[in-house]
Parts: sequence; C-alpha cells; structure tokens
Amino acid sequence: MAKVGFIGWRGMVGSVLMERMLGENDFGSFEASFFSTSQAGRKGPALGFDTGTLKDAHAVSILSKQDILVTCQGGDYTKEVYKKLRDTGWRGYWIDAASTLRMEDSSIIALDPVNRDVIGRALSSGIKDYIGGNCTVSLMLMGVGGLFNAGLVEWVTSMTYQAASGAGAKNMREMLSQMGVLEGSVHDLLADPASAILDIDKDVTAALRGSDIPVDNFQVPLAGSLIPWIDRAVEGGQSREEWKGYAETNKILGSKVPIPVDGLCVRIGTMRCHAQGLTIKLNKNVPVDEIESIIGDANPWVEVVPNTKEASIERLTPTAVSGTLGIPVGRIHKMNLGEEYLTCFTVGDQLLWGAAEPIRRILNIVLEHIG
Ligand code: NAP
Repeated sequence: MAKVGFIGWRGMVGSVLMERMLGENDFGSFEASFFSTSQAGRKGPALGFDTGTLKDAHAVSILSKQDILVTCQGGDYTKEVYKKLRDTGWRGYWIDAASTLRMEDSSIIALDPVNRDVIGRALSSGIKDYIGGNCTVSLMLMGVGGLFNAGLVEWVTSMTYQAASGAGAKNMREMLSQMGVLEGSVHDLLADPASAILDIDKDVTAALRGSDIPVDNFQVPLAGSLIPWIDRAVEGGQSREEWKGYAETNKILGSKVPIPVDGLCVRIGTMRCHAQGLTIKLNKNVPVDEIESIIGDANPWVEVVPNTKEASIERLTPTAVSGTLGIPVGRIHKMNLGEEYLTCFTVGDQLLWGAAEPIRRILNIVLEHIG
C-alpha cells in the first residue's frame, strides 16, 4: 500500500481537501499519515478512522519514508523543506498547493480536466512534482479551457473579481467585521424609513475612512469598497497575480506557442468565489452556438448559462456557486469590436477548483500511476 503524508491538512485549503476526500471515499486505498509544523505528538484529525498521532512536518527522516507527500501548508514550508528532502535522495511524489515550485521545469501544474494529457506525459517521463495552479487561472481554464484546447484563442483579457478567501482565513473574518462596523455606523438611520439616504452614505463613508474599521490584514477596507491590487508588483506595471495569468495558463496547457493572457486582478467583498469577465480574441469567426457547445462539452463541471438577465442573476453569481464544484460560464456574446471578439463571465469556488480539488484529483492520478 502506498504511503501518503499530509501536511497543512488543518488550514483552510487543507480542510476543504479533507472534506472532499472524505466525500469521495478517497481514504482507504493508501496508508495515510498526518503531519504538523506546530502540533506534532497530538492526536491526528477526526476523519472517522484511526489517524494516529501527528508527526513532525520538519522531520525530513520521517517525511522521506512516504511515497507521496501532499502539502497545503504554504510556500514558506515548501521553501524550507522541499530541497532538504530531495537532497536526502528522496524520489517520492510531491503534491503542493503553494506556488513556490509552480514554474520550475521539474514540476507540472495539475488541472487534469484541462491538461490530463500533459500530466500523463509527465508521469511517464518520471516527473515527481505536481503543483496546484493559481486559483484564478485554474478557474478560468475550467470555464473556457474548451476554447483553448480547440485552438481557437488568439489572446485573452481577464478582469477578475476575487474573493476574500484568496487572501486567507484572517482576511475573510476581517471583511465580515468591516461589514459589521459599516452596518453599526448607520444602524439607527437604517431602522428609520424616513431617514435620508445621503445621510446614511455620509456616515458609511466616514466609517470607511475612520479608525474603527479593522484593516490589519487588508490594510484598507474591502467591505463597501474594493482593492485593485493583489500580491506584489512585478515588472511592466503588473501585479504578480496578473503575471500568473500568462505564465501559468501556458504552462498548464503546455503551449508550444504561448497565448497572450493579461488583465487586472481586483479583490472584491465576496467570501470564497472568484469571478472574471473575459474578452477573448478568437482566431476565426465561430458562431455563438458552436462556441457554447465547445465550452459546455469541455468537462463535466462547466455549465453554459443562457445570456438572459434571469439566468445570469440566478446562476452566475458567487451566491449560487459557493461550496459547489459547478463552473458556470455566461454572458456569452460577440462584442461590438467585431465577430472574432467574444466576451463571457465565469464564476468558481476558489477553495474547490481553485485550490483543493486539483490536488485531490492529482493525488488519485499519481496513486493510480504507481499502482
Ligand atoms: P492556512 O489556512 O493559513 O493554513 C496553513 C497552516 O497554518 C495550517 O496547516 C496549520 O499548520 C497552521 N495553522 C495555525 N493556526 C491555525 C488555525 N487556527 N487553524 C488552522 N490552521 C492553523 O493556509 P491556506 O489559506 O489553507 O493556504 C495554504 C496554501 O495553499 C498556501 O500556500 C496558499 O498560497 C495555497 N493556496 C491557498 C488558496 C486560498 O484560497 N487560501 C488557494 C490556492 C492555494 P500546522 O498544523 O502545521 O500548525
């Protein structure tokens, strides 16, 4: 039986991974061990079977006994441990949710509904590092991967609407606290139907700019506002989140000729669903019904939403998608710019297809590969 070690299982992504693995009955076909950077020696997670005691996630000698390591612990952990482990001669499979190793030549970005062929070739050629993609990139490709794989995309602009969860658990809590402060600042005025909306607005703006609103994590209010910058700056005026669009899309697809992908990444006040508005330059004029079939047939999770107000506001929102594996793609139509210019809007749960689900699935693919 293969030995699989889990690190980072109690974090936000790790917890969603555990939930999904339990939901799909993934445990049982391998010997699972659980590690922690801070709780070694304590009881393992409550997953309905004996998970033993937690092992030390820094103990390279114990880690190296595993055939597969799955980590959702974060980039600092990967930086600290991965090289030491490989330096011992360990040749096991490293499956990681962090971005640290994503762009290394020795790793593959795993998103099997889109790049199962790339993964298959990598496994056959002995590649051992499989890394989950950036959430926004993975969600875009789950949505419109059909168009890329059909060779129809000349370039894409992606304008994102990214959830608080992408910044971590503390940020999600902070955003909700900010919402509470804003409501509290006008509670009495709201209760009075005769109060003037501009008085309410004045008080909310004062609360947004005041010192009572918590901003330790986001630095500025997200609730009642937005943040047009995610991650650090890179060259060319882009943020690193924006840079990943081009770099990771083409790595996931294994593109021989890279396809330009660029746009602005914006944090908005949703909990765990990222959305994005796409402008796609097709390399030929394809009718919209054909485009809808190509998008909708690409994988079992993508769902074409009719371009009507009713369907869009019911089915194409974070509210509809949160906590599900569905990837709706809607607002699909040609733009005034010309027949080869397509626009659409897509939404996905960034903790599921954006983080945990590709990790869960690549673990199963690797397990199947090593038999
Ligand atoms: P996280 O929630 O901060 O958890 C990371 C680790 O923090 C846990 O495994 C745990 O490790 C420790 N920890 C300390 N106090 C904790 C507490 N009260 N509850 C739970 N864990 C606690 O990290 P994350 O947001 O899941 O992200 C993990 C990795 O996935 C990162 O590399 C991130 O970039 C990547 N990722 C995240 C997202 C996302 O949306 N958040 C999406 C894609 C990829 P010990 O048990 O060792 O103490």
